[in-house]
Amino acid sequence: MNKELIENIGILVGAGFTVSYMVANFFTGYLNEKSNRNVNNVSSLNELEEIILKEKVNFNIPKNIKIIKGERPEGSPSGIRMKEKNVYEIYINPSEANRISVRHELFHLKDGHVGRTFSRNESLNDLFSNLYYTFYAEPKTVLYCWKTLKKELMK
Ligand SMILES: [Zn+2]
Repeated sequence: MNKELIENIGILVGAGFTVSYMVANFFTGYLNEKSNRNVNNVSSLNELEEIILKEKVNFNIPKNIKIIKGERPEGSPSGIRMKEKNVYEIYINPSEANRISVRHELFHLKDGHVGRTFSRNESLNDLFSNLYYTFYAEPKTVLYCWKTLKKELMK
């Protein structure tokens, strides 16, 4: 193959990848927003704690697994992380303090997305983790949340 052809293939692969990446991000962002628009935010932190407990039961998360509510600086995105063995810390951004955001984070936990290591090399690990979330974990999670919410709304 000549050099020009190889270069063109490279450009096409790169462009294809960029488009897929954008589409995946757009899809998860869109569906996540759509779900959030259909539920009301709670007004107090106590209510949010009740939701966490309720959703935890719905997911059949074992009793020995503790879920604690974390605090982050204002504007931080919602998330869940392992704090120590069997203790997970969940943080919900106040702008999305509702059962869908809680469900979203708990689904990450239940489905085994939390605390994965892909490579011992830090940069490679970041890259693989980004790809894993963009093309697998996030779409699967938002889809699950949207499907279950739709069922609830139809009741
Ligand atoms: Zn997520």
